[in-house]
Amino acid sequence: MGASTLYHLAQAGAGRVLLLERDPYFGQGATGRCAGGVRYQFATEVNVRLSIASLAMLEQFPEEIGRDCMYRKCGYLFVLTRPEEVQAFDQNVTLQRRLGVATEWWPGDEVRSRLPLMRFPDALAGSYHAKDGLADPNSVVMGYLQRARDLGAHAISETEVVGIDIHGHRVAAVRTRDARVACGAVVNAAGPWMGLVGQMAGLDIPLTPVRRQMVTTTPIPELPAGFPFVIDFAQSLYFHREGEGILTGMSNPGEKPGFDQRIDEAWELVALEAAANRMPILEGTGRLTGWAGLYEVTPDAHPIFGPTPVEGFWLVGGFSGHGFMHGPIAGKLMAEFVLGGQARSVDVSALDLARFSQGRMIREYNVV
Ligand SMILES: Cc1cc2nc3c(=O)[nH]c(=O)nc-3n(C[C@H](O)[C@H](O)[C@H](O)COP(=O)(O)OP(=O)(O)OC[C@H]3O[C@@H](n4cnc5c(N)ncnc54)[C@H](O)[C@@H]3O)c2cc1C
Repeated sequence: MGASTLYHLAQAGAGRVLLLERDPYFGQGATGRCAGGVRYQFATEVNVRLSIASLAMLEQFPEEIGRDCMYRKCGYLFVLTRPEEVQAFDQNVTLQRRLGVATEWWPGDEVRSRLPLMRFPDALAGSYHAKDGLADPNSVVMGYLQRARDLGAHAISETEVVGIDIHGHRVAAVRTRDARVACGAVVNAAGPWMGLVGQMAGLDIPLTPVRRQMVTTTPIPELPAGFPFVIDFAQSLYFHREGEGILTGMSNPGEKPGFDQRIDEAWELVALEAAANRMPILEGTGRLTGWAGLYEVTPDAHPIFGPTPVEGFWLVGGFSGHGFMHGPIAGKLMAEFVLGGQARSVDVSALDLARFSQGRMIREYNVV
């Protein structure tokens, strides 16, 4: 969000723009730990529209930004094993098609025949979209930063924001450990830590950090080149091709909120057992590496965009596990907010901070 916002502000001729990052390297927060999945398949119109706009930007990334972001359309297949999921996804597919997304609906037998390496005796149906896929988070962050710098913007790492100065009801400056940066506008793009930075401005942002983790395996020669991103929706268990092997992860429904990013080894065993049950070839495959990161979860699993009661203090975050894919359009929308007072490219007015206090929440079903 930070890198994309910086680039889009610079590109729109915003003048002096600065990105502050606490870590020694950029893109090592949630973005650097994510699975790289990009998809159109969502359950709400606003999320589908964000995907339509954002994935088009990934498609144009090499031309616009001058760097390959390794967008690979391997398709996303949601495998549905419970009747209530079939009903909900059927409605989702109708919505997606209405918006121009050509999602396919597969009966259980087709799911089984398309995934010979997997075991889904209980699959009732699958929803598949061929243009969903994967992109490389590091290339996207580095591409935006480089182009933003080419346009005269600044980005500084190892610089933690520790305070926000407010004069009257307006933001006046950002404080780091050894500097005060006077500014006319601040975009809080602190990902899972957005709530903490919000507190510095006296705001209560309902955002919960929740650990998620995954592992990658050693090469699997039998794995087809076009193996899709497969999601066993009932278990929140997913698989996609990573190099010559598989990346797999499963959301722990009992995970307590918090900032811990260490691997939970006990949960890793549970997840690997579930993965091997669906993909028996994994039993004879080695673990290559594993890591954990933080989801940034809001009460309705939708992001927060736009203004706050503090004038000039803007929010972009809370994507609840699918923010990488929406990063390109999110940065563009933030540039529109900061420079023009409102987002124009996609209508995100329903995703404001005020919706939580005003009871206007929207539920997203396709959360993994
Ligand atoms: C395991 C896992 C898998 C995921 N898989 C996917 C996926 O397949 N597809 C997808 O689209 N999304 C996925 N996500 C979600 C996605 O990673 C996030 O939604 C997205 O990366 C959020 O981006 P961000 O810029 O808001 O946050 P971040 O990338 O975390 O960036 C926030 C930055 O703010 C910095 N920061 C925080 N506080 C301060 C401070 N006080 N001062 C200065 N800097 C500060 C942090 O160091 C960090 O670098 C996944 C997430 C996880 C954890």
